[in-house]
Amino acid sequence: MTFSLHGVGVSRGIAIGRVHIVERNRLEISEYRLQASEVDAEVERLMSAVAQAKHHLREIRDHIPTSTSTDISTFIDTHLLMLDDAAFTDEPARIIRKKLCNAEWAVRLQRDALVAVFDEMDDSYLRTRKDDVDHVVDRVLRNLLRHAPLGHEVPDRRLKDMIVLADDLNPADLILLQHHGVAGFVTEYGGPTSHMSILARSLGIPGVVGVHHARRYVVDDELLIVDGDDGVVIGGADQKILDQYRERQNRRRDYLAGLQVLKSEAAVTSDGQAIRLHANVELPEECESVHDAGADGVGLYRTEFLFMNRSGYPDEDEHFNTYRQMIDALDNIPITIRTVDIGGDKPLDALTASGSLAANPALGLRAVRLCLREPSLFWPQLRAIIRVSAYGPVRMMIPMLSEIDEVHQVMDIVGTIRNEFSRRGIAYEKMPIGGMIEVPAAAICAEDFARELDFLSIGTNDLIQYAVAIDRVNDEVSYLYDPLNPGVLRLIATSIAAGRKLGIPVAMCGEMAGDTRYTRLLLGLGLEEFSVHPTALLEIKHILKSTSAREAKVLAQKLLRTTAPARRKELLASLVAPSNLLPT
Ligand code: PEP
Ligand code: MG
Repeated sequence: MTFSLHGVGVSRGIAIGRVHIVERNRLEISEYRLQASEVDAEVERLMSAVAQAKHHLREIRDHIPTSTSTDISTFIDTHLLMLDDAAFTDEPARIIRKKLCNAEWAVRLQRDALVAVFDEMDDSYLRTRKDDVDHVVDRVLRNLLRHAPLGHEVPDRRLKDMIVLADDLNPADLILLQHHGVAGFVTEYGGPTSHMSILARSLGIPGVVGVHHARRYVVDDELLIVDGDDGVVIGGADQKILDQYRERQNRRRDYLAGLQVLKSEAAVTSDGQAIRLHANVELPEECESVHDAGADGVGLYRTEFLFMNRSGYPDEDEHFNTYRQMIDALDNIPITIRTVDIGGDKPLDALTASGSLAANPALGLRAVRLCLREPSLFWPQLRAIIRVSAYGPVRMMIPMLSEIDEVHQVMDIVGTIRNEFSRRGIAYEKMPIGGMIEVPAAAICAEDFARELDFLSIGTNDLIQYAVAIDRVNDEVSYLYDPLNPGVLRLIATSIAAGRKLGIPVAMCGEMAGDTRYTRLLLGLGLEEFSVHPTALLEIKHILKSTSAREAKVLAQKLLRTTAPARRKELLASLVAPSNLLPT
């Protein structure tokens, strides 16, 4: 009998294959007491488990194909760095000595302490980093308990072309699975912004996460269809369904191959409207893929990665050198450097003192709010961005604006720095300074922001979570995370209209901009600049080129005025590019 299970599609495409169920349930850890004479040996046992974990990670890293994105080795390096950190070695060793307990128990206690810190962090992205702690801890515990790590319990050929179904997967698992040639994956937990999901997109492995209790319904070796486009997993499919999905798979493959010819073509709609297509970048190494995709520029460089996996903040020169290197690599196309959007990358004491340990961290001290509170975090970055503006086409972008006074405060600091540079003869250009519209209040008052800024960029990842009042990393409420919610669409339309009225560009750099289901709708709402993951760029260009902007605008305007659900559905259907699901 055919059945379907629903989750969140995090990596596009369709995979069909036999399933291999991976038991990665939490390991059973119990505490036992040691004699004082046993302590040294126990610490030794811990260190060798850590060393084994490092050895295994290095092995994985060394087997990454050279064609694979550099993000991947960065994930592994992150975990290796963590294993070198005192938090994973000295601290559990100290617990063993102090409590006279076994190494597994010490590791578990230390894990709970670290995770508690991450849980308090103010930024949803950083909070997902607690997954990294869990993945590293899991590796060490498996070594202590002599459990095989994922992928080592089955021969390589067994995983080839299979679908892996697990409670959860970590980035290193995913790399290993890719190495074994898996066709797709399904997990019971996880959200679309976890490290693993980001990685799956960049590796192009179709996957669905958050399929609760999937392992209750699926048996080992049965044939599954993983539809990463629609977030559906289908079992017991008859020949007809299988044929339909195979047909979709083939069409998509041909479609993507055919898109390569668009690289050097301009993004112009069928009725002649030019659109700017920019790329989102998280690591300097990605500049190469920006070129490969033929992007007009970088519309969002998330600088958060510069601040991660270290104890202090980067200094002005480190910022400057990184940006300078990117400008050179981008070869004169513009780069939009977003000032840092973190919420918790400082000592717990400081967070507690500033009262920022909010019960609801997405609403707490993050992004520009934190930057304005912490000059030692913000000023070096601003100084570096202003300095680097002398070396190429740089734009600066401020995230999470919620009131105009935040713009004034940032501009005051920028003015102070520029004055100092002028006095000292340090070169800089008057680069464009823009802001992100990701808080509903800012979208409603977008005209006020457009009056004072040089450009706006709509961050739908946050705008949707705040407009619909759901946590973007919580898979329990992800069904409400709907870019087509009428309230969301009006906020987007208001922001775009504000830019048009005040004569400044408005871009969109949230995930919605890179989702081909919404390309025509966004064009219809008047969007003229899309900033998307480099891998999505050619698909978006293809749809833009086959769309009449004039017709899309008529339909989108009607949609904004329509409340009747049936009519809205009709209008939305006519705004979806047919090439999205059935590329020809
Ligand atoms: C957004 O919120 O849409 C965005 C682009 O910013 P981030 O995903 O980094 O919060
Ligand atoms: Mg955001």
